[in-house]
Amino acid sequence: MRVSLVLFTSDLRLYDHPPLRAALTSADAVVPLFVRDPAVAAAGFATPNRNAFLADCLADLDAGLRERGGRLVVRSGELVEEVCRAAREADADEVHLSAAHSRFATRREERLRRALESDGRRLYVHDAVTVVVPPGEVTPAGSDHFAVFTPYLRRWTQVRLRPATGAPRRVHVPDHVRGEPLPARGAVPGVSPALPAGGESEGRRRVTAYWRGGLDAYDEVRDDLAADATSKLSAHLHFGTLSPVELVHLARRRGGAGAEALVRQLAWRDFHRQVLAARPDAAHTDYRTRHDHWRTEDSAREDIEAWRQGRTGYPVIDAAMRQLRHEGWMHNRARLLAASFLSKTLYVDWRIGAAHFLHWLVDGDVANNQLNWQWVAGTGTDTRPNRVLNPVTQAKKYDPDGAYVHRWVPELRDLAAPTVHEPWRLQGFDRAALDYPDPVVELSEGLERFRRARTGPA
Ligand SMILES: Cc1cc2nc3c(=O)[nH]c(=O)nc-3n(C[C@H](O)[C@H](O)[C@H](O)COP(=O)(O)OP(=O)(O)OC[C@H]3O[C@@H](n4cnc5c(N)ncnc54)[C@H](O)[C@@H]3O)c2cc1C
Repeated sequence: MRVSLVLFTSDLRLYDHPPLRAALTSADAVVPLFVRDPAVAAAGFATPNRNAFLADCLADLDAGLRERGGRLVVRSGELVEEVCRAAREADADEVHLSAAHSRFATRREERLRRALESDGRRLYVHDAVTVVVPPGEVTPAGSDHFAVFTPYLRRWTQVRLRPATGAPRRVHVPDHVRGEPLPARGAVPGVSPALPAGGESEGRRRVTAYWRGGLDAYDEVRDDLAADATSKLSAHLHFGTLSPVELVHLARRRGGAGAEALVRQLAWRDFHRQVLAARPDAAHTDYRTRHDHWRTEDSAREDIEAWRQGRTGYPVIDAAMRQLRHEGWMHNRARLLAASFLSKTLYVDWRIGAAHFLHWLVDGDVANNQLNWQWVAGTGTDTRPNRVLNPVTQAKKYDPDGAYVHRWVPELRDLAAPTVHEPWRLQGFDRAALDYPDPVVELSEGLERFRRARTGPA
């Protein structure tokens, strides 16, 4: 009997899964393996919200495999050692894996390839599983990656995609390969109270519901903070419970402005991945230095803590930061405002904000998070690096009735818009009756500090 091993990583699904499909084609039995590697936790990637969502994903993947006659094999330990051990136990001559693009993952993949080869086994790495267009597939003349989104999108759109495939009918897993009990979501401490459920079944349900009731209007409402009408597929894309290739096919088949706008956002996701693949240091260092002398944890401790706690005195920022803790997720417009406020208005090092987001976000993702932070901080790929988003004018535009602020900042629930966005304008008794902080900084002062920092002394 020929056996292959499929190593699941950020691709926790059965639909449209090229490594699984290839393994099932070349072998009679397959070991579907997931390794809980302590190095992932040590690198800070395994946070409570993502661990809880991951537990749902593994449970659902196991259930899906069991429906097809198999099961998921989960093991804990150093990934390369565990894969080699499981391959030896199962006598698998091939290991199939989805390509990943961070430095952490590509180094691990290289170590795995060497270890397997020295054991007489082969590693097959499959592209376009966790991205639509793999990094490096489209490049501009004279560079290994695109630094500007619009020309990238043009080329990305022209790429002919592989067709999406269904889930296998049967998966035969050899009996003697041992696994551990699955991790339980309920056993993870420190999880956000309204964290969404994970897993492929849930992801596919969400797609069906969104295609039925949200997608067509996506383009019109995606910036409306209170409507909260974006797809909320980001965590599913992060854990690979949904295939981005399949989503693009589905959206293109649907057509229309909403579907086109969603495809464009999926291209942004690939765009950041191709930047990170070419410049892995961009996870931690400025992609384009602006010679900043950021305020740090030591020099801006109170401001940073007010931002983290949602107590800056700017209602829309505080609403955003409270949503993040409560749901483990934040609306995209709110992410832009919260990140601009920290990195520009407070002139705090973007890495401090990115680390806080990465701790709480269920979709927290090195490429998307770090490069969006750099984009906002003006050290990344934004072609207007010194633009500063004004939290009051933005709030009036994207939360005109104040409903988003009312939802997350109950202290301000009795204030109507537009006052709810500028409570410091209240006078006397009305102001004194509010249990809500004064602004940590005047916007004009923050702007002046940032402009001085970026342009140097006049
Ligand atoms: C400071 C900051 C930090 C961010 N950190 C993350 C992160 O850690 N993980 C993450 O997935 N997204 C991140 N984003 C991008 C974006 O905010 C989220 O992907 C989006 O809000 C998720 O909600 P949704 O699934 O409803 O998105 P939708 O608007 O429905 O978009 C569909 C999908 O497109 C992708 N997408 C949308 N916007 C972007 C974008 N600007 N960049 C890259 N991909 C995008 C996501 O995969 C998303 O699920 C960040 C944005 C900012 C400004």
